[in-house]
Amino acid sequence: MSDKPEKLITDDGLRLDGRHADEIRPMKIEIGVLSRADGSCYLEWGRNKILVGVFGPREVHPRRSQRADTAVIRYKYNMASFSTEDRARPGPSRRSIEISKVSREAFEPVIMAELFPKTAIDIFVEILQADAGTRTAAINASSIALADAGIPMKGLVTSCAFGKVDGQIVLDLNKDEDNYGEADFPVAMTQDGEITLLQMDGNLTPDEIRKGFELVKKGCKEILEIQQAVLRKKFETPVEETESEA
Ligand code: UDP
Repeated sequence: MSDKPEKLITDDGLRLDGRHADEIRPMKIEIGVLSRADGSCYLEWGRNKILVGVFGPREVHPRRSQRADTAVIRYKYNMASFSTEDRARPGPSRRSIEISKVSREAFEPVIMAELFPKTAIDIFVEILQADAGTRTAAINASSIALADAGIPMKGLVTSCAFGKVDGQIVLDLNKDEDNYGEADFPVAMTQDGEITLLQMDGNLTPDEIRKGFELVKKGCKEILEIQQAVLRKKFETPVEETESEA
């Protein structure tokens, strides 16, 4: 772990990576990067690098896991052993099991699973490089991979954290801010603003939480625009093309 910087917010109000309090890290999304998956996404967010593959709706193994009235949604978050500063121990951990569970729950309100009884929709997340905010980054990538797989959804899910650093509420913590800050508060929401994930590490006052939520709403709106642009680019048929085909 790097040493604690003297200050995480400089005298001119900027964070150590040059961002203002209300700025997210730069995000880059590629869609359909895995040929064997039904849908996939590669996402970079700051120094985070994340790959998601979606499979399904497909037959459920083991069969006793089937549900007669709906598809089962399975979400597996995994950190590559080389993704962190200290080698991450391979295999499931308490943390990865928890993240998988809350992330699955973040998608349950939007995935129209009832259309595919007795099947499974599998979302596999591989964290290739971690720099804080991997669960939120993975949710943003999973939204795109699900859409790429053609899974019917009521809308996209977007996710972003806010936190408290040197006594200030800031959006989208990087690794130093996560390590040495006072609080971290990841949130996921639907396009309609319904909250589908909410966690908190640290202590915050109700006023700080209200302020943080304003930042998260702004961050999620920006992320949604990036997600929509990627999907439009892949799936929208240019008007000229439709006309010339007619
Ligand atoms: N981290 C790590 N080793 C671990 C777990 C986490 O180095 O076993 C780092 C990693 O950079 C991660 C960050 O700590 O992104 C913050 O982890 P947290 O559990 O808060 O989840 P995240 O913010 O990634 O969703």
